[in-house]
Amino acid sequence: MKKISMTTPIVEMDGDEMTRILWKMIKEELILPFVDLKTEYYDLGLENRNATDDQVTIDSAEATKKYGVAVKCATITPNAARMKEYSLKEMWKSPNGTIRAILDGTVFRAPIIVKGIEPNVRTWKKPITIARHAYGDVYKASEMIVDGPGKAELVFTAEDGTEKRELIHNFKGAGVLQGMHNLNSSIESYARSCFAYALDTKQDLWFATKDTISKKYDHTFKDIMQEIFDAEYAEKFKEAGITYFYTLIDDAVARVMKSEGGFIWACKNYDGDVMSDMVSSAFGSLAMMTSVLVSPEGYYEYEAAHGTVQRHYYKHLKGEETSTNSVATIFAWTGALRKRGELDQLPELMEFADRLEAATIRTIEEGKMTKDLALITTLEHPVVLNSRDFIKAIREQMEK
Ligand code: NAP
Ligand code: MG
Repeated sequence: MKKISMTTPIVEMDGDEMTRILWKMIKEELILPFVDLKTEYYDLGLENRNATDDQVTIDSAEATKKYGVAVKCATITPNAARMKEYSLKEMWKSPNGTIRAILDGTVFRAPIIVKGIEPNVRTWKKPITIARHAYGDVYKASEMIVDGPGKAELVFTAEDGTEKRELIHNFKGAGVLQGMHNLNSSIESYARSCFAYALDTKQDLWFATKDTISKKYDHTFKDIMQEIFDAEYAEKFKEAGITYFYTLIDDAVARVMKSEGGFIWACKNYDGDVMSDMVSSAFGSLAMMTSVLVSPEGYYEYEAAHGTVQRHYYKHLKGEETSTNSVATIFAWTGALRKRGELDQLPELMEFADRLEAATIRTIEEGKMTKDLALITTLEHPVVLNSRDFIKAIREQMEK
């Protein structure tokens, strides 16, 4: 069989622990036999990040700007325990954070739906994609404990020294204070990433805030989204047959619970943090979630939503059998290959991505799955496979 050829490389960002093991198996069993794979390889494994003073992470993000498409393996974000474990020179920052800052992107997360893993919400038939704004608000807030009576004000001092003041509260006793901010430029980038992704996936886009209460802060989000939509995307949405609509966050939550799914839910930072946990757990499992970082310029970085599955890795190191779910990592590869095919006009590569996804889904629907899914499936008598045999079962399905 002739292998499918590629013209432009994909930026390949290798990672850590169990997902690094799966990464290699996926390439060997599911991609290299079928595709004449072109990648520019960056080793983001913690040892190499430490050896290169994290330059490799920056280089991989810059390469993504050059080529447009990347696929990333899960990576360790160092903490005190990891400093010791890997004898690190520094507590390197989260690679995802570094890459996101360079690409200025928004992360879109969507569940992978299979028969036999049923959402807890009966009406949900199609995936709900969450787009979380990832800058500012409560995550970059300043806080203060107030010990007793006094006046709290918001003060803004312009560069020319002029001041704007707003009374927060005249405290009669103890209490708490918080000051938070956001940037128009960040909201604008977010808006463009959301509209571009909606067009890309041909799904309606919902956006919601609490603008009735927050008449300046949240209202600015609403206004910026609307202005950019009207000026740059309204026509394109019409042509694509999709809609953008804004509603109050309360209304959005109520509608989501009664919906069929099949849309993108754009959320402010805090709402996205909380709601993505709700949506992913209601759909089944983090190992069945795709995740893609989309920059406002249209660069794409595909990854799995879960971490490096450390507990399984230590079992693997001890020579024990693991049953780690590789679906999200497989879908990171198919997402990147399909996007590469689309950008380079390689229909065969796009079809290959579809075929690999279909084979993965069919394998599970036929009852062959990893342990995490076997625990929650509604299928009777599932066959529990180890990490390698699950990938091999998909390979067999591909060859049918
Ligand atoms: P994790 O790797 O997501 O795993 C937490 C638990 O969830 C696992 O122990 C396992 O449960 C289950 N799980 C997650 N993915 C699974 C899969 N594919 N198949 C089967 N079970 C799966 O989170 P963590 O253990 O808290 O974090 C480990 C490392 O990952 C940390 O160093 C963290 O910094 C990093 N991390 C990276 C990313 C990223 O790169 N995108 C994201 C999050 C965390 P059982 O043990 O019960 O089987
Ligand atoms: Mg959360």
